[in-house]
Amino acid sequence: MARVAVLGCGVVGTEVVRSLVEHADELHSRTGTRLDLVGIGVRSTATPRDPVVPTELLTEDLPGLVRRADLVIELLGGIEPARQLILDAVGSGASVVTANKALLAAHGPQLYEAADAARADLFFEAAVAGAVPVVRGLRESLAGDRITRILGIVNGTTNYILDEMTTSGLDFETALAQAQQLGYAEADPTADVQGLDAAAKAAILASLAFHSRTALADVPVQGIREITPADIASAAQTGHVIKLLAIAEVGRHGTVPGIAVRVHPALVPIDHPLASVRGPYNAVFVEAAAAGTLMFYGAGAGGVATSSAVLGDVVAAARNFVNGGKAPAESAYAALPAMPAEAVRTRYQIRIEVADQPGVLAEVAALVARRGVSIETVRQGAHASADDVAELVIVTHEASESALAATVVDLDTLEVIKRITSILRVEGN
Ligand code: NAP
Repeated sequence: MARVAVLGCGVVGTEVVRSLVEHADELHSRTGTRLDLVGIGVRSTATPRDPVVPTELLTEDLPGLVRRADLVIELLGGIEPARQLILDAVGSGASVVTANKALLAAHGPQLYEAADAARADLFFEAAVAGAVPVVRGLRESLAGDRITRILGIVNGTTNYILDEMTTSGLDFETALAQAQQLGYAEADPTADVQGLDAAAKAAILASLAFHSRTALADVPVQGIREITPADIASAAQTGHVIKLLAIAEVGRHGTVPGIAVRVHPALVPIDHPLASVRGPYNAVFVEAAAAGTLMFYGAGAGGVATSSAVLGDVVAAARNFVNGGKAPAESAYAALPAMPAEAVRTRYQIRIEVADQPGVLAEVAALVARRGVSIETVRQGAHASADDVAELVIVTHEASESALAATVVDLDTLEVIKRITSILRVEGN
């Protein structure tokens, strides 16, 4: 018999408890051991719970509960007390399953080291993209391949908002309000719309894919609050949709190899598999040397869907408990550094408003070329704000972030340029 402690009985915890209670016999058959739920740690035992929750198992003494468990399922969220409780658990030899991306992105190495030192399991499938089995895919199935790039839609809230802006023509605030009404966005949507939730997941994905420690602090982030209906319409005119992407790829800064990780909205060609990821769904597109391209797709959040990933880890941990196996250890041997943001190379779409007069295009093109940024296409856009101005939409070839920044400073000095409306990266080619 394996003694199981569930820490947290909220959206995910309740569904995990439901599975442990309602599918106890099946889980026994699958793991070879009975999973004996010994306690459920919460902030307040007085809070009303779903009827499936055995209230006699609720406790506010989480450290005491951890001491009584062989398998600890951490579903509290946040940094403390989750970090300390996981350290206590692995320290006493218990296996840990967590869904806590914020904690792993901030303190992953400390937790992996503690688990390895104690030869305890640390599983975290639900920390990235909810029910989508991408962590196991990278950590185990692709462990013999060489991954070159990951492009992920790993935040359902922002994907829902951008999708509604694209398909229903809503502006950002209206789409956000709708997402909140439908339960796809929290009352405080900051972590989602600013890209911070996606950045934590990007750090975890990059660490797994490139066998190198990558922390949240290594991930430059830009959210979607600034995306306008005009950006969406302009993207559509060139056969693109706008998606918030978590990107991790190997690159070079001078002669030094490194990992470029970032989160930002990007133009994605309409025929790219990620463009068809609709509503609150998640997808992770992986490019690998031998496997080619793969896409992991599915529900990225929600208590029931996320509980599937948690239970998958619970079964794996329980099987190890029975057979004496061990989850894969952290693989960080490559130790590739995070590349500085300004060294990252990508294509850009720059929308500007210019004086509607002859010679302007040549003037702008010459200025852009001076900074070593080469123009792929220029076309006249449809979103000029006055009669005497025209919109130009410039798409560049690959350029470094620093070259682009210098170009933008220069563009600002040109008298014929009325305003730079937006700058968006173009990804997925
Ligand atoms: P939630 O609904 O806010 O539930 C959190 C639970 O933890 C509550 O039961 C709360 O107790 C308990 N808790 C929080 N802080 C505590 C503390 N200091 N001491 C004791 N108990 C504490 O959170 P959730 O949405 O289930 O998320 C749990 C984890 O899963 C997070 O790491 C989240 O990032 C991750 N995750 C969530 C989803 C999703 O769709 N929700 C998807 C993927 C991953 P009370 O009930 O007494 O307040």
